Amino acid sequence: MTELLPNHMAGRWQTGTGAGAMLFDPVLGTELVRVDATGLDLAAAFAFARQTGGAALRALSCAQRGQMLSAVVKVLQSHRDAYYEIATANSGTVKNDSAVDIDGGIFTLGHYAKMGQGLGEQRHLLDGEPAGLGKDPLFQSQHVLVPTRGVALFINAFNFPGWGLWEKAAPALLSGVPVIIKPATATAWLTQRMVKDVVDAGVLPAGALSVICGSSNGLLDQLQPFDVLSFTGSADTAELIRSHPAVTRRSVRVNIEADSLNSAWLLPGASAEAVDLLVKEVAREMTVKSGQKCTAIRRVLVPEQQAAEIAAALSASLAKTTVGNPRHEAVRMGALVSRAQLLAVQQGLALLKSQAQVLHDGATHALVDADPAVACCVGPTLLGLQDAAASDAADLVHAHEVFGPVATLVPYRDSAHALELIRRGQGSLVSSLYGQDPVALGRAALELADSHGRVHIITPDVAALHTGHGNVMPQSLHGGPGRAGGGGGGEELGGARALHFYHRRAAIQASTAVLSQLTPAA
Ligand code: NAP
Repeated sequence: MTELLPNHMAGRWQTGTGAGAMLFDPVLGTELVRVDATGLDLAAAFAFARQTGGAALRALSCAQRGQMLSAVVKVLQSHRDAYYEIATANSGTVKNDSAVDIDGGIFTLGHYAKMGQGLGEQRHLLDGEPAGLGKDPLFQSQHVLVPTRGVALFINAFNFPGWGLWEKAAPALLSGVPVIIKPATATAWLTQRMVKDVVDAGVLPAGALSVICGSSNGLLDQLQPFDVLSFTGSADTAELIRSHPAVTRRSVRVNIEADSLNSAWLLPGASAEAVDLLVKEVAREMTVKSGQKCTAIRRVLVPEQQAAEIAAALSASLAKTTVGNPRHEAVRMGALVSRAQLLAVQQGLALLKSQAQVLHDGATHALVDADPAVACCVGPTLLGLQDAAASDAADLVHAHEVFGPVATLVPYRDSAHALELIRRGQGSLVSSLYGQDPVALGRAALELADSHGRVHIITPDVAALHTGHGNVMPQSLHGGPGRAGGGGGGEELGGARALHFYHRRAAIQASTAVLSQLTPAA
């Protein structure tokens, strides 16, 4: 019998009473561990986190919470090897792709640990300067940010079981808000193990971090007005979340990160060097984590007259990708996470192929050290629309996200046309621009800023410096308006901006003598 992973809630480890859902190795098809949340006392878990965890965290200063995050970093670093083994087995990722999730998560925690130490002994944050409310400056208004007295519930997607936990938990814990994480079932093992290591190390107060693996049944029913909910996943589930009574009636604050038709745009008149940078970045984005990144490039906008040249260069680059068992040293791209995802990618590809041509066929990649009948591996596929008129006529490429190693070349006539096509994604996480003219690039970035959480500009002078189209850095905003934000405008990270989601803002109106008491001691 495979191991049934326990959940950590109400300050103790508890196993569900059901048979549980099995987690699989997506390359070998073998059974790994089971998760289950049947019969757990969720009300007690939420109450314990809210009361015991919340009170303990709020009693700490920002600097102390920062030190606490540093201690979490150390615990995770000491178990890295185990995390890599779990990622290979459960996510089917090659080492470099596992690093994006594991080391990316630890790096993000480290960023917020430092921020906490920089914030010093305060337990609340000041928001702006005092503002006079009348002629006499004695009576003023000062805005403050205080931690919400609830829990932060995270319902996460399968593609980042490590980073997806810590990019949210770091700002929540630094804000003084306890966390309950519900990882996606398919890859819940890594999340559970990380929480287990941190809890067992005793570096967090009781109730600060809980993990519930398995079904999400009943979780949202526990939410109360001062709790916050952060969801990452598909647009369909996002719709269910948004219409749940916790959100519609009990006014729970919610952040949604849903699917996104991200784009890369080669501007007109781009130099040969800029073209090379586009080809390199698109090939990388298509293949990192087998394209299972919410930020991955799905649409590649190129001037109509350069489409054939770029299709050839991209196809040549993709052809070199070795696909298969991530344990084999020659393999550069591992598997999709599950058979369900393999099926979803195959169905999505078939849909896009009804409007686009195949420029590079993933099916031509023979799998290395993996049985095609068992392994959830697919080669990268580049699709293309025939010309600029076809880019207008095709609707699926702007609307259907294939969550795998698939992108479509979209030819355009001029910049106005490119912008119009990009906007048909109805709000995306990120668009990357390629060229060398700062004026045109700056103008294009501002044109796209209203419909994107991030615009990443790759010019030859930053070729060796830029952080990558798809890499989410804690200093920069991650999220998107419109569709990518599930209709609500998702926002995560962005340095100290991330803390705002876990705080409540209030205006304190008082005399300057009273307001001076709000300023943290130096
Ligand atoms: P999903 O099927 O929507 O699942 C996401 C999470 O929601 C899982 O933990 C899932 O649990 C849970 N869930 C399912 N039904 C639920 C319900 N009725 N109520 C509450 N929770 C429920 O999405 P996915 O397939 O894991 O993730 C892929 C999608 O995520 C892609 O579309 C991708 O674009 C998006 N994504 C977006 C971002 C971003 O930052 N914008 C990042 C990563 C991924 P179970 O696993 O137990 O079903």
